[in-house]
Amino acid sequence: MIPYGRQSLDDDDIAAVVDVLKGDWLTQGPTVGRFERAVAEYVGAEHAIAFSSGTAALHGAAWAAGLGPGDVVHTTPLTFIATVNAARYVGATPEIVDIDRNTWNIDLSLIPDHSDAVIPVHYAGLPVHLSPEKWSHKPKIVIEDAAHALGAHTPDGPVGNCAHSDMACFSFHPVKPITTGEGGMVTTNNSELAERLRRFRSHGIVRKPEHGEWYYEVEDLGYHYRMTDIQAALGLSQIKKLDKFIARRNELADQYRKLLENLPVEMPPSAPDGFLHGYHLFAVLVSDRERVFSELRAREIGVQVHYVPVHHHPSTKSIKHTPPGLGNAETVYGQVLSLPLHPRLTESEQEQVAVALETASDVGT
Ligand SMILES: *Cc1c(COP(=O)(O)O)cnc(C)c1O
Repeated sequence: MIPYGRQSLDDDDIAAVVDVLKGDWLTQGPTVGRFERAVAEYVGAEHAIAFSSGTAALHGAAWAAGLGPGDVVHTTPLTFIATVNAARYVGATPEIVDIDRNTWNIDLSLIPDHSDAVIPVHYAGLPVHLSPEKWSHKPKIVIEDAAHALGAHTPDGPVGNCAHSDMACFSFHPVKPITTGEGGMVTTNNSELAERLRRFRSHGIVRKPEHGEWYYEVEDLGYHYRMTDIQAALGLSQIKKLDKFIARRNELADQYRKLLENLPVEMPPSAPDGFLHGYHLFAVLVSDRERVFSELRAREIGVQVHYVPVHHHPSTKSIKHTPPGLGNAETVYGQVLSLPLHPRLTESEQEQVAVALETASDVGT
């Protein structure tokens, strides 16, 4: 099976992990600190706080922002459930807003006045432009779900620099732009938020050495959401290759656009001038998606659907949405199909995908 996404590891990555295994620290230690500084520097943010997963990072961000019962948090229906759960974990109420048909990202011109926070998702790695003129109402808190978008840019710089947001959350799951196995990160320019995030990921503990070197107090209900030095070593090695990965993903995306030019397939939104697409996914629209999906899977092509929308799940189907409705999200969901895309995908594998899609489309007409 050609997977839709996978990690790209080399001998340097493996050696970096082995080095940590031979040292003194396995749990959160100096390598986590180094990885945090590398990510902060890469995206141009003042602080980066590592977490055990992207989901934990989102939970931490929602808590650090002070969101809780009575707060309404808006996001896109076309996302992984973890985006919405970040609001639910802290007792806030999530609501969804339709996507823009041209970008497949949340339509910021539909954010209602009662919104307390928005979690935009940079779907497939195409950044949402969060500049002030895009919003019908810009709430006091903006948390980017940037799980797809490490390495992507807007005209205001790299995603994660928080030019128009309070925090940005990343995931290092193996299919994401770089991996630590499991892992996540929050970036911010606000030192108070950074301090709260550090406290939250480690039981709410605050050390008080003025009362003895051993002394600490638990100031909040925190969690154990720490990353290990083993994971951070992998991340630190991977981030050195991030620019190459993104360049390769863009090259493969261009190649798909050429290969699929004459097929009855709607191409994904491309990056406007001044943007760099992260191409976490190459998701196309096809009519008769269920049949095309099965035919490609039967040919060992690991297509996938991103995502079953938030309001389709039993756990979140009572979620409210903002007028006028979710028509664009339903249209995209009904036809969307992620084709294989990762830095080690070969041109001949891409051709196999194109041939399989062509055959499947021929049968359909
Ligand atoms: C992967 C992902 C997450 C969660 O990240 P994990 O590291 O798997 O917890 C959250 N939001 C989106 C959009 C994602 O794709």
